[in-house]
Amino acid sequence: MHIPNHVLTDAVMKLRENTPYFEAPLRTWQNAGLLQINLVTSGCRNACSMCNYVRKDRVMDEKQVMYEMARAFDSAKHPYDRVLLGTFGSILDPLESPRNVVGKMLDYVAENHTGTVILETHCTTIDDKTLDWVRERLGDRKIAIEMGLESSDSYVQNKILNKNISNNAFRQAIDTIHKHDMLASANVLVGGPVMNTAEIMKYAIQTARDAVAWGCDDIILFPLNIKPYTLTEWLYERDMCLPVSMHTFHRVLETLVQDTPVAWKLHTAWYGDHQHGDVITASAPVCCKKCEPEFVEFNRQLNRTFGMPDRAAVLQEMFANFKVPDCGCADITYELAPPPLSLEARTRIMVGTVKKQLLQANY
Ligand code: SF4
Ligand SMILES: [Zn+2]
Repeated sequence: MHIPNHVLTDAVMKLRENTPYFEAPLRTWQNAGLLQINLVTSGCRNACSMCNYVRKDRVMDEKQVMYEMARAFDSAKHPYDRVLLGTFGSILDPLESPRNVVGKMLDYVAENHTGTVILETHCTTIDDKTLDWVRERLGDRKIAIEMGLESSDSYVQNKILNKNISNNAFRQAIDTIHKHDMLASANVLVGGPVMNTAEIMKYAIQTARDAVAWGCDDIILFPLNIKPYTLTEWLYERDMCLPVSMHTFHRVLETLVQDTPVAWKLHTAWYGDHQHGDVITASAPVCCKKCEPEFVEFNRQLNRTFGMPDRAAVLQEMFANFKVPDCGCADITYELAPPPLSLEARTRIMVGTVKKQLLQANY
């Protein structure tokens, strides 16, 4: 376990104080065969730079949660074969997500859904006892545990993203998940503060490859969403965080699909593809109006290939046939400071600026 950077943690907590409080007990989305249900909790106990998950006291009304749960299932507009249960942090963290409520949610899913169940949780919430408890409720249906890895580079992971996990802890969680005959999914971030385009690509590609080498069954690539009330938004407004371009994201994917074992396991996700109503607004990957529909459609097609026989070859062909739109927004290059400054030096400047300008009253 790494010690979180107290400056970044304080900054994230300060910015999160302004997040709106959600009255509804659940938030639901539907997207390409997936029904996602998020329990609105008091929020994650961690403080990552890119996350705005609120941290406020919340009294959970079990009856209301179950009423909304039934409504989410009944009002699903499209067919789905996967149900994802998430929260504002970790569904398997008993301090955040009360076990009595989560137990009821799992029982409801067991009674009403025969397909895959995905549980989104922090890798440190995985242990034998917890997974036994989950298995007991869900029986022999396919279970996947989705965990944020973000970056396998420990500097990026802890000093820039303030994620506060270690690769060892993550690898142990994968092994425990497999021991319980469940699937392990890793969320990989494309983007983050103080990194330029070349670094964003390098770390994302390496992370996806590492996660596959460690035995992850699915890799979900997330381009950075710059969400309100986050440290990344505060840094973005001060030219210390680059919004990820769709072209950059595409180049990362294109590189990874050449790597057959990775290609089999690759998915993409971004808030931009399921924004509606009161869903947290976020700046999804940037591009112009000309190329946006083409990239969005291409990524949808990519996710639809999952489960196809010889998926890696199908993806390689898809990329070979895709003509990158000649739209003039091909990339936004970004340098926080002249190139001789190392990533470490840029990170130090970031932390110093946060201290001075955001936390000045306390430091
Ligand atoms: S990214 Fe995950 S671990 Fe980090 S604060 Fe958000 S929910 Fe918590
Ligand atoms: Zn464009």
